[in-house]
Parts: sequence; structure tokens; C-alpha cells
Amino acid sequence: MRDGELSAALLDWYDRHARELPWRVAPADGAAGKRPDPYAVWLSEVMLQQTTVAAVRDYFHRFTARWPDIAALASAEDSAVMGEWAGLGYYARARNLLKCARIVAFEMGGRFPGNREALMELPGIGPYTAAAIAAIAFDRPETVVDGNVERVMARLFAVETPLPAAKPDLAALAARLTPLERPGDHAQAVMDLGATICTPRSPACGLCPWLSRCAAQARGIAADLPRRLPKKAKPTRHGIAYLGRRADGAWLLERRPESGLLGGMLGWPSTDWAETPPAEAPPAPGTWRPLEAEVRHTFTHFHLRLALRIAHLPADIAPERGAFVERHAFRPSDLPTVMRKAFDLARGQIGAG
Ligand code: SF4
Repeated sequence: MRDGELSAALLDWYDRHARELPWRVAPADGAAGKRPDPYAVWLSEVMLQQTTVAAVRDYFHRFTARWPDIAALASAEDSAVMGEWAGLGYYARARNLLKCARIVAFEMGGRFPGNREALMELPGIGPYTAAAIAAIAFDRPETVVDGNVERVMARLFAVETPLPAAKPDLAALAARLTPLERPGDHAQAVMDLGATICTPRSPACGLCPWLSRCAAQARGIAADLPRRLPKKAKPTRHGIAYLGRRADGAWLLERRPESGLLGGMLGWPSTDWAETPPAEAPPAPGTWRPLEAEVRHTFTHFHLRLALRIAHLPADIAPERGAFVERHAFRPSDLPTVMRKAFDLARGQIGAG
């Protein structure tokens, strides 16, 4: 098979086996002239930057039920979007999502630009997402390379250079296969092949449209590719969070700095998160009682063990850090997951009503 034949065989397979995804136009509908909704493609791609298709489905349904188009999302309250985003992680992405929605809705007449370069000018859209939106929503011949695609290319061409060093070569190989006809479906087909057939541990080569051309399969090394340099273990960081409640029921919360982890999110005042257990740094004077339970949470680059302290604070207290949020204005759903876990552990002991 030549490269064009590889793509044709893959598209033929995709026409019969494409995954049904809520943001996707099925191949038969595409052939009948239906076009994908760029809003749905963009939203799903931003969500997929950090989690799996299975996890994104629910978030996608909730978002589109509440904000069915770009204009609705652009007009949403920031805190409502952050609340729906909780659990997806990387809150900077949720903030960029809103910024992007507002630019597209209010400055671009509600229409996403249709090419990669212009898409990359928008907040939260990097090279990968721009290529994915341009290919999927606008059928541009862009090459979309994620982990699935890298794995498939490493196997198809038996690339033995370990990741991440092999990335540029794998991207170039993927680009060579991108056709001018139906590039959007081709991009989705390679991803589907990686997700459903050419899976990480035991590829189902017998079902693969590329079986007769696959170099790794011919050499019996498919399941060993792609090779990777050994991963560094994630470090564990330690911190202490302080859950303080005033006599009138208000909660002492602190907004995190805009840049950095959980940037701009509300949370419990806490110490820095360091590799050695930190010294106490309560946000207000008082009797801070330690809880036996601690929060365990894993971020992309480290595990966190967060010890908890609780205190009942007098009505006239002046905190050194943070600000009180009245009991009726406090919504645990506005907190990022790690802070909500702290609340769930402490609520029984400090009174959550
Ligand atoms: S033949 Fe097997 S290893 Fe090769 S691309 Fe297909 S599923 Fe992957």
C-alpha cells in the first residue's frame, strides 16, 4: 500500500467502525453533508486535553445542556463555569475557555476562525488543539498528533527511538499520511484506531486495516512500542490547610494567585506545598485543632498530602490572610476538587449548615 492507500483503507474502516461521540458527526451524516459544530469540537478538545473520552462525555453533556452555544457560554458567570469544570483539573484551562468564548462571541461574531494559525491566537488553544479543531470542524488537512497517534505511528513504521525523543519523527510520519480528501475524518480515524484497536497493551492486529503494512506487527514487537525512557516517580508534597468558621457561620477562604496551580480559584488558606512537611502558618489567631484525616490528591506532577486544621473563630476576628464568605454565599461546588475534599473531611467536625 502507498501512503494514499493507507489513508483510504483507514477511512474505509472508519466509515464502518467510527466511535459514536456526542461532539462528532458520524461518517454517514458527513457524507450526507452534515458539518460538525465548531463550538462542540472546540469544547470537547479543550476538555480532552486533560482526561479521557469516557470522563469527558458527562462534562460535555452537562456543559452543552447548560450552555448550548458559544453565546450562552460567553455570557455565563465565571463561578458557574468553574463549578461545572471542577474535577476536570487545570482551572487555568477553564478560565481560558471562558476568555476564548467571549472573544469568539463578542469580537468574532460568534464564529470560530477556520484555520490553525488563527485558532492559535485564541486563549487556551495550543498547536495540538488548533490542528484538531481545524481538521475536525473545518476539514483542513492538518495533522493531529496525540498519544494514540504516536503509538500507532511508532508501530506502523516500527520506530524504536524512545519517547519523547521520537516525537518529531512520529509527527512527520503522521503528516505524511494526512490526505487532502476528508482530512478531518482521517484525523479522527487514526485516533479511533489507537483508542480501540491499536491499544497500548494488546493491539487487536487481526482487526486492523493496516495489518498488511505494519512493520512492528511483522517483526512481532507491536506491543513493545512505543518505547519510553523510564518515568521519574512523582514526588509527594505536604501542606496544611486551615478551615476556619466564624461564629455567624461565615467561612474563611482565600483566592489563590492568578498564576500557578489552581490559579484564581477559591480555597482554604494553606501553607506552601513543599517536599518536607511545612511549619504551621494559620491565617488568623485562634485555636486550630488538627484533624486525624488528611486529604490525598494527585496533580499531574506530584502527589499532595494536605493536613487539616479547623477552628471556630470569634465574630470580631481580623484574619491575616483570606476573607470571610458568608454562609449563604458559600458553595462547596465552587471549590476545586482538592479543596472540596478538605471540606468533606472537615464538615462533620466544624458544622456545615
Ligand atoms: S497492525 Fe497492530 S500494531 Fe500495527 S497498527 Fe494495526 S493494530 Fe497497531
